[in-house]
Amino acid sequence: MSFSEEVRLFDLPAHSADDLLVIFAFPNTYELGITSLGYQVVWKILATCPGVQVARLFTDCHEPLPKQPDLFGFSFSWELDYGNILTLLESQRIPIWASERSDDHPLVFGGGPVFTANPEPFAPFFDFFLLGDGEELLIEVQNALREVRSADRQTKLKHLAQISGVYVPSFYPVEYLDHDSHLDTVPLTRRTWRGETLSASSVVTEHSAWPGIYMVEVVRSCPEMCRFCLASYLTLPFRVPDVETTLIPLIEKGLKVTDRLGLLGASITQHPQFEALIDYLAAPERAQVRVSLSSVRTNTLTPKLCETLVARGSQSVTIAIESGSERLRQIINKKLSNAEILEAAQVAVASGLQGLKLYGMCGVPGEIDSDLDETVALLLQLKKQHRSLRLSFGCSTFVPKAQTPFQRYGVSTSAEKKLQKLQKQLRPHGIDFRPESYNWSVIQALISRGDRRVAQVLERARHYGQTLGSFRRAFKDLKGELPPLDYYVHTNWDETTRLPWQHLLSESNGAMLEKHSALAQRVMAL
Ligand code: SF4
Repeated sequence: MSFSEEVRLFDLPAHSADDLLVIFAFPNTYELGITSLGYQVVWKILATCPGVQVARLFTDCHEPLPKQPDLFGFSFSWELDYGNILTLLESQRIPIWASERSDDHPLVFGGGPVFTANPEPFAPFFDFFLLGDGEELLIEVQNALREVRSADRQTKLKHLAQISGVYVPSFYPVEYLDHDSHLDTVPLTRRTWRGETLSASSVVTEHSAWPGIYMVEVVRSCPEMCRFCLASYLTLPFRVPDVETTLIPLIEKGLKVTDRLGLLGASITQHPQFEALIDYLAAPERAQVRVSLSSVRTNTLTPKLCETLVARGSQSVTIAIESGSERLRQIINKKLSNAEILEAAQVAVASGLQGLKLYGMCGVPGEIDSDLDETVALLLQLKKQHRSLRLSFGCSTFVPKAQTPFQRYGVSTSAEKKLQKLQKQLRPHGIDFRPESYNWSVIQALISRGDRRVAQVLERARHYGQTLGSFRRAFKDLKGELPPLDYYVHTNWDETTRLPWQHLLSESNGAMLEKHSALAQRVMAL
């Protein structure tokens, strides 16, 4: 792969000798990093700031890197990539622990959903975090840093900490009382972008995971508020750009260089003008455009949408049903009935789609055995009704995510057995059952609900191989220095347990999460 094979969709400003020097890294390969719209967008914002020079770094390649960068940033969206963050820092001879860095080292920062939800397990590795949307925040950070560029490290960090959305963890020392973390401070706010445009690809390349794709963010956040869902709660409010004046011009820009279009967003069919977007894509002059959609809300799968997808090269569509049990869907606040799922399959088949990918979860708080039976029954019914349809069911284990209503629930220890049960009952009937690894879910939960003490575990586990056994071994080594693995992963935390990310939850957000949690408990008690 070569950077020169990229089609860059923006102009770089002229560079000068006193530019701020930035390394912007993605802790995985180029192929995955360049497929991340979040990474592309931050890179573009930084690269188009006058007076800033950015070099990109991936685990398998990089642009020419500055010897003495001012900033070293990471875009981070997948918890299990954390080991690569530490390896990339080491590869540039930067101490992995923020406390060991001197004025000669760059300020190391991170952004993205994982850090915005709960940066605490990573806090000892970073000088600062960017919380929330980066559109304005990044510009303010580089402007502020330029004002104190020759100052010492502490002065720079103090200056940056004045910006809303910048979190410097070393300024917030934590005390641990028993298992809980205590951090007395007023809540920090995350930034919310309220501009008219959302994001779109800044580069198109054949070397991305979806070769030649041009990605457009159709909506940000999701108004559905399923109670486990980080993509909804962490990014509220739901925002939509106007189709005619904003989205279509943005799409046209990409279609000048490629005919592969990806429409992204947590819930794109919720866009109030989605019909108009489909009309635009269905027009004969766009017959050569191939369109991919991220997951579609089941009850918005219309014949027109399916027919357009078939005409634009899609063979299957993905919908998240979560469960076959309506009771469980009520607990999680998924407003969807089994009749709507059956109807969606009918529409997909009638429109000529050959495959239907369903997503679900097991181990959801409040789940009982009969919920699982209902999932099996629904999938068997779908298969029976549509024998020729390629039906797959991807199933994950519920993982509690910080800053969602289910943040206090642990991972169910019976989830692994439930995955095996589903496999046994679905595969013999020709349903392509795809379970996600239970062990990885346990590690994700540890990272999702960890406090700063977990950083030592993360650092050790990467030398032991980053399997669940490695994490268990690291906990054994550190026995007495932090609570056991089960406390972070499996224990249901009651309302008296102080959350490691409590200082990042505004009062109104905290109250909203508690209210949703109480509503879920009411259904569980029925
Ligand atoms: S519909 Fe999907 S994206 Fe929206 S809240 Fe529910 S799970 Fe999240």
